[in-house]
Amino acid sequence: MPEGDQSGRVLTSLIAGEWMPAQADAVISRENPGNTKVTAARWSSATAVDATRAIDSAAQAAASWAAHPHETRLAILSGWLDRIEADTETLVTIITRENGKPRADALAEVAGTLKDARHSVQDARDRGLVESSHSRSHTRLEPVGPVLIVTPWNFPLATIVRKVTPALLYGNPIVIKPSELTPASAVAAVKLLEPDLPSGVVNLVLGHGAQVGPALTSHAALRAISFTGSTATGTALARATAARDVRLQLEMGGKNSLVVLADADVDAAVEAAITGGFGCAGQWCTGTGRVIVDHSIAETFLERLITRTRELKVGPGDSPESQVGPVISAARVNFATEAIATATAAGARLRCGGKLRPGGHFITPAVIDRVTEAMPIFTEELFVPVLPVIAARNADDAVRLANTGRYGLSASVFSRDETSAMRCAERIQAGMIHVNLHTAWRDPALPVSGWRDSGRGLPECGRFYRDFFTKPRAVYLP
Ligand code: NAD
Repeated sequence: MPEGDQSGRVLTSLIAGEWMPAQADAVISRENPGNTKVTAARWSSATAVDATRAIDSAAQAAASWAAHPHETRLAILSGWLDRIEADTETLVTIITRENGKPRADALAEVAGTLKDARHSVQDARDRGLVESSHSRSHTRLEPVGPVLIVTPWNFPLATIVRKVTPALLYGNPIVIKPSELTPASAVAAVKLLEPDLPSGVVNLVLGHGAQVGPALTSHAALRAISFTGSTATGTALARATAARDVRLQLEMGGKNSLVVLADADVDAAVEAAITGGFGCAGQWCTGTGRVIVDHSIAETFLERLITRTRELKVGPGDSPESQVGPVISAARVNFATEAIATATAAGARLRCGGKLRPGGHFITPAVIDRVTEAMPIFTEELFVPVLPVIAARNADDAVRLANTGRYGLSASVFSRDETSAMRCAERIQAGMIHVNLHTAWRDPALPVSGWRDSGRGLPECGRFYRDFFTKPRAVYLP
């Protein structure tokens, strides 16, 4: 076992109301990305048979959970959020240890989790489950049935809680399949919820997607999947369920553009690039994936961006000075260095960063210019702290560049003239547009809406959750 083990006991799956025993031959160690000598968690992988049992168990619990009064479910979920809030310190420690993000970012994740989920609770309370018509006849919103919730590692608590809250509020039993890289946040969240629920309403399956995924997605009782992760995995889930009645909410990859027009406040745009590009060490779905800057201010913008980037303190998440933590794995460090090498070999210029640091999966934030639209670094999602910058001839050219590629998650336009910034932003094919705010700026009342290859199905957020997690039934009375 690596030195400095902090993992405690082996984490396991929850199926049909029982925490499974650990299987000695299936135990996997997860290192702390910010200090690879330390174990962040040890967990025991479920099997395909366990995964099938998890959906069986959700299916068996469906009728009784659906019969619970709406008010009771609202109270149970509110209680869960209160316990998450009370346990913030523990959760922050777990998130920092297994994801690597600085404690301040982990704290922001817990706070954001609560804001999102409490918005869902309030929305479900306000909207209710019955829509009246002019007569006694009405529309009743019924649960859809067993829901599979599949989540990534970059927001290991937030993504789970954001989906679980509305899924359960609207009467659906669930199976959670968290990222194999961040099982501890998932177990911690479920432990705070499960004692309040009837057995089988919430199930947790720990395992690699390839090992447990097919058994989960092929189960005949499955009725919906709420997924956040890469476009490749989301598309595979869509393919696996295409022939059956399984509704999909897929929040997928992005290549979000920060557009800086000629009349922009350059300092404000630079700060937006720093936050969006290097927040979460670049591992932020709505983070900034590329900067498109008007050629007339490109050099001024780049100089300031490089100065600010060099000031960023890179280090382990539990060190109070760290502003940028490690990336999630050694494989992602290699991916980053290869992406930089490929781009520079094709004529791009590394202006700063891209250096490795010992002790963890560290790579210093990198800015790259002389990027062309033909380079993969300009079109493909990187999900590491590497920020390509390209010059645009004018606003029209900037819009054209921002629409290059297959994604359509988020975009931002900086200009001192809000009207022309909005005109420009509205022409970008993205489900979230910002004016003079960074690309990851969010409000829980607005949808996380991925267009093109960034999303499929109804987006996450209050009223869309109600539509996604319920099916309407028309009830006629004389
Ligand atoms: P990933 O697609 O590799 O994995 C996501 C989840 O899917 C994991 O739990 C994984 O185990 C699971 N999975 C993989 N194959 C599966 C299968 N066959 N069946 C069932 N489950 C399977 O993504 P990741 O590396 O964990 O996360 C990074 C990606 O997530 C990036 O592309 C990022 O843009 C995206 N993301 C999107 C949003 C959004 O809101 N649009 C938010 C956060 C992250």
